[in-house]
Amino acid sequence: MSSLPAAASPAAPAEAALPGRPALAPLVCRRCGARFDPAPVAVCSECVGPLEPVYETPGALPTRAEIEARPRSIWRYRELLPLRSEPVVSLDTGFTPLVDAPALARALGVRRALVKNDAVSHPTLSFKDRVVAVALNAAVGLGLRTVGCASTGNLANAVAAQAARAGLDAWIFVPEDLEVGKIVGTAVYGPRLVRVRGTYDDVNRLCAQVADRFGWGLVNLNLRSYYGEGSKTMAFEIAEQLGWRLPDAVIAPMAGGSLVTKLDKGFHELLGAGLVDGASPRMYGAQAEGCAPIVNLVASGGETVTPVVPRTIARSIAIGNPADGVFAARAIRGSGGDAQAVSDAELVDGIRLLARTTGIFTETAGGVTVVAALRLAGTGKLRPSDELVLCITGNGLKTVEAIQPALPEAPVISPKLREVAALVDA
Ligand SMILES: *Cc1c(COP(=O)(O)O)cnc(C)c1O
Ligand SMILES: [Zn+2]
Repeated sequence: MSSLPAAASPAAPAEAALPGRPALAPLVCRRCGARFDPAPVAVCSECVGPLEPVYETPGALPTRAEIEARPRSIWRYRELLPLRSEPVVSLDTGFTPLVDAPALARALGVRRALVKNDAVSHPTLSFKDRVVAVALNAAVGLGLRTVGCASTGNLANAVAAQAARAGLDAWIFVPEDLEVGKIVGTAVYGPRLVRVRGTYDDVNRLCAQVADRFGWGLVNLNLRSYYGEGSKTMAFEIAEQLGWRLPDAVIAPMAGGSLVTKLDKGFHELLGAGLVDGASPRMYGAQAEGCAPIVNLVASGGETVTPVVPRTIARSIAIGNPADGVFAARAIRGSGGDAQAVSDAELVDGIRLLARTTGIFTETAGGVTVVAALRLAGTGKLRPSDELVLCITGNGLKTVEAIQPALPEAPVISPKLREVAALVDA
């Protein structure tokens, strides 16, 4: 699949950035350690292991004060991201609110709960804006003019919007039956949007072939090594917003398993850089019962994912064969955390509980996360002494069909005071 030179030749030192093009970090194989020049390739040509960027400038890390003086975006942590020069597109994504949620903490029975609210991420209201911002800079750095993705919805929104703004062509592939909000919220930006008959896993397989055939930058396939690093910024922001401190526990929804893996990596990098001290948080992962391959893997203690066929209304996290499932399970176990699945009926309750306790309207994946936290607290896996951060990764207005049937119908009245009075007295 790869046309890279063999690993024998060590990666060349990073070139100076071409005008308008960021210089990228080279890549290293997580399995065999082979090194490669920056390329739109996410898999090792020697051993088929996953590639990840190399960071080798620990002396050049910024101080807390230097970071705090920079603009409020993911790029304030740029030394911990895989660009070796300034970003050129998607400059203003990141730095979403970290919201104290005392009523939710009481419902959960933990000391403190905070919501990392990527439901208001700029520009497309999900945490996928972070990963796409990094991937599009990688695409520009590699000289690619066409980008794309295989998506369960939010990634489609983020790639379409950010590619439009960057002036890149975009080809977006999604399962046929996505929510209206996800389809409309992609098509409006004018990409080539293709609906595929099949599950996300079918779309993903197709896109692996598309990337090879047309030489495009598919952000979560051949640009995945760069893309995934964007998720670390959620960890960096949590620590900074807590006053350069780490929480006891963090819970996040899992689809391909990248976010949970990279949150854990991000916390460890902050510790390694001396920007925080203490212990890395316990990591908890949430999935829907109808698509819980990573929860199953954590429970079994095994080392290989058993793929499932997704059956859940939580479409944004319905990935039956998660690319980073093994790494997510390892991160969760290694941190002393756990994983929890919840039913579709429960996730609807979770959306309502979050809305009523925090004023935040999340999509299905957020409902999964809230109920998973409730279950984990109920079984003592989350502790009464915990300071817990819930990663709320997407916006409820994109999945209204999931929640609408559960809400009471609003009365319709004539514009007459006595009709209001009748409602007040009822
Ligand atoms: C994509 C997505 C996730 C998790 O994605 P990973 O593939 O596990 O990184 C979580 N929540 C929402 C809303 C998503 O769209
Ligand atoms: Zn390798």
